[in-house]
Amino acid sequence: MGDTFTKVKITTAFEGKPNARAIKTYVDNDGYAGLKKALGMQPGQIIDEVKASGLRGRGGAGFPTGMKWSFVPKDDKGAKYIICNNDESEPGTFKDRYIAECNPHMILEGMIIAGFAIGANKGYIYTRCDFFDEIKWLETAIREAYDAGFLGDNILGSGFKFHIDHYAGAGAYICGEETGLLSSLEGKKGQPKLKPPFPAISGYLHRPTIVNNTETLAAVPWIINHGAAAHKTMGTEKSPGTKLFCLSGRVKRPGVYELPLGYPIEKLIHEDAGGMLPGYNIKACIPGGSSAPILTAEELKGLTLDYEAIAAKGSMLGSGAIMIIDDSMSMAELLKVTVEFYHHESCGQCTPCREGTGWLANIMTGIMAGEGKKDDLQRMFEISRNMEGKTICALSDAAAMPTKSIVTKFGAEIADFIERGKRA
Ligand code: SF4
Repeated sequence: MGDTFTKVKITTAFEGKPNARAIKTYVDNDGYAGLKKALGMQPGQIIDEVKASGLRGRGGAGFPTGMKWSFVPKDDKGAKYIICNNDESEPGTFKDRYIAECNPHMILEGMIIAGFAIGANKGYIYTRCDFFDEIKWLETAIREAYDAGFLGDNILGSGFKFHIDHYAGAGAYICGEETGLLSSLEGKKGQPKLKPPFPAISGYLHRPTIVNNTETLAAVPWIINHGAAAHKTMGTEKSPGTKLFCLSGRVKRPGVYELPLGYPIEKLIHEDAGGMLPGYNIKACIPGGSSAPILTAEELKGLTLDYEAIAAKGSMLGSGAIMIIDDSMSMAELLKVTVEFYHHESCGQCTPCREGTGWLANIMTGIMAGEGKKDDLQRMFEISRNMEGKTICALSDAAAMPTKSIVTKFGAEIADFIERGKRA
């Protein structure tokens, strides 16, 4: 393992460059070099290289990317698809849109390489409809890539054909779940489906499909260009490479930070982000988007930003959205907006999710209105416990996990709020 704190920029390499999004800027700075190299490799070699790099899905689940690609049946010569999941909706997360802002060609190059690796000739980018600028930048980049011969029927004279279309979703959180996204892309209601079958076997239009997060795909060109070994010099053994972290809350410099995995969270908050604004102290932190269990300020001590270290604290790295909760913020209010969000976004197919999120939201509405009851916290814990692991997708768990952790760790504050019948 090399210097784990060397700050190599991969997905934000074009941050701040003049004309950062133009294809010329990209090509002049090694852009599409990974694709040129990949076209000279065997598809299986590309999958092996991505496997060896240790790249894990950056959307939240952290599943090994090369392994996911290897699930696509190799002897199936029919249609296959690459989908870029650019439906970034997890509260606190604003990194994928930043990649499109820095340079959208990196995303396209990752998709073309992935397509070549699994034998797909068609890709779709699925973006939230309200990312107006990103949609414009991505569609411009697609046109530029066609004009330059990086997309089309005979890419760079290799005989490989790959086309990309862009699709703007209608703005539902649940369409960030891969089977919900595929349903939406097929023109149906964006509702998740039971797995198996997994999309790698039966996905878009029942054909083998790989759905990767934007940040995951954007890391692929660098890995192919520089090699798996170079990627593994950054981060930790089990979590190699860099990750984008979205830091929000009352820190002096909130924003997107590309850091090697395994980076100390205290260093990010107090050095990179300049610490807390005067008069505010850290009370808690949600380390991986609103569905991640909350950590207390004490639990941040010595914590590193990688999948294993955060899991060992009972939370998750998730999308990399680090939300700092300061001592001026009410935990009751935080819990209310969290459960209301998940209730609003539940697609309604599963009873524990549809009803459970509604019950949680109703209880919190009562508490905020000064009508809380003594046993509300216990009821919320029990409802949450019964919402976990029983539904088609993870949204039910995504509502239950923060609820259980907030009730467990900050129950005294909320109980005091109930007792006083007004805001803490
Ligand atoms: Fe829909 Fe919730 Fe069931 Fe997911 S868990 S499929 S969002 S009802």
